[in-house]
Amino acid sequence: MALSMLCKRIFRVSLANSMSRQSPTLSIIVKQKIISNAQMVDSSVEGHKGRRWLCTESNEHGKHRHCWKCKRKLDELEVYFCKCGIIQPLDSDWSYFEIMGTPQQFDIDTNSLTKHYRGLQKHLHPDKYSQKSDLEREYSEAQSSIVNKAYNTLLKPLSRGLYLLELHGETIEEDQIEFEPDFLMDIMEVNETLANSADNADTVRLIQKENRKIINGFIVELTDAFANENIKKAKELLSRLKYYANIDEKVKQIQRDKGYMSSYF
Ligand SMILES: [Zn+2]
Repeated sequence: MALSMLCKRIFRVSLANSMSRQSPTLSIIVKQKIISNAQMVDSSVEGHKGRRWLCTESNEHGKHRHCWKCKRKLDELEVYFCKCGIIQPLDSDWSYFEIMGTPQQFDIDTNSLTKHYRGLQKHLHPDKYSQKSDLEREYSEAQSSIVNKAYNTLLKPLSRGLYLLELHGETIEEDQIEFEPDFLMDIMEVNETLANSADNADTVRLIQKENRKIINGFIVELTDAFANENIKKAKELLSRLKYYANIDEKVKQIQRDKGYMSSYF
């Protein structure tokens, strides 16, 4: 089929461009760094079982926190609850990575993140606090909402990358980065193909598959860029990733609207 051939060609070119600067050795270094810097610790307090990553560099929190109810000094594992079982307010200085107990880096395990998120929401959900005091209800609403926000920001590579940029004091302004005409032309062609093929479930799925391969290439490159503190490179990659993330969202919207099955790659 002509459309899907065109699509394949576009994606092959884009993928080759995106993967060309990738260095396999760096990924290995990144993984080693995770193992040496972070230690997985089981945290289990009354009413809350969860796992929390403790980074050797960011182990400072909890030092000056005290339980508002029993006044006991909280240790760093007592993030959401005191050992007395009472829900605690979160420290407003905490980053989303700290809130989700994940090392502050681009390369995170999203399966663990989702598992951790579900575990937290099970204990923090405001429905569980309907019979509790106003303060406890207030804390549960605030925590539940910030945990949602933190989870959704860290889950997707684009929002996670943009958030990491923010933590480095950087943002991406529109028109800050100039793209070569070929790149914009490729993106336009994919968008056109997608719009013209919305009625063809196979073509939509093919676009999704090829687009996700490209996104995965960006994830590898972004992992290296952030691990090497190459923020300029990360910015450039994220500016491009925005376009592919946008295609992915459009595909998902079509699949929802048309009742197509989504592909998982
Ligand atoms: Zn307490």
